[in-house]
Amino acid sequence: MHHFNFLFVRIKKDFVVPFKGLADGEHQFTFEVSKLFFEEYCGEDSDFKSGNFNVDVLLTKKYNIITLQFDIKGKVVSECDRCLDDIDVLLDIQETLYAKISNTEIEEDDFITISSDDNDIDVSQYIYEIISIYMPLRKVHEEGMCNKEMITKLEELLIEEETEITDPRWDKLKDLLNN
Ligand SMILES: [Zn+2]
Repeated sequence: MHHFNFLFVRIKKDFVVPFKGLADGEHQFTFEVSKLFFEEYCGEDSDFKSGNFNVDVLLTKKYNIITLQFDIKGKVVSECDRCLDDIDVLLDIQETLYAKISNTEIEEDDFITISSDDNDIDVSQYIYEIISIYMPLRKVHEEGMCNKEMITKLEELLIEEETEITDPRWDKLKDLLNN
């Protein structure tokens, strides 16, 4: 657990954008999202097995408004819905978030509130959320690229299940054979 916390903190530090003392205007940040990010950030029940992204963040500060323009390019390694093998999902995402620096929570859907006491913004959660939103609902290899062995096994299993469920005569035959 300590090991995990240590990694978690380290990863979070890697994704911090300092904004205290930032001059108004544009500021560019670049982050590498690697396998470690997906392992430690997403947990075991995640759709992501691994991944690799280059993330550019253009931060624009104007008075108490911060605009974060994300440019996220790379791939997620996930599971094929048809053959269950690893599949690379390529993503090229442009997304913008707006934040207000304020001491009170702002209840506007499109705005994140950043406390004026904070020194920086941790963008790792936003990167994770954005990638999650853009994951396709159905992830399958191109036609003919699925793991054929696995497909055959899955089809056999399906036929077995169907036989067991839909054909009561099969049970009788099995009883006869067992006696
Ligand atoms: Zn497949």
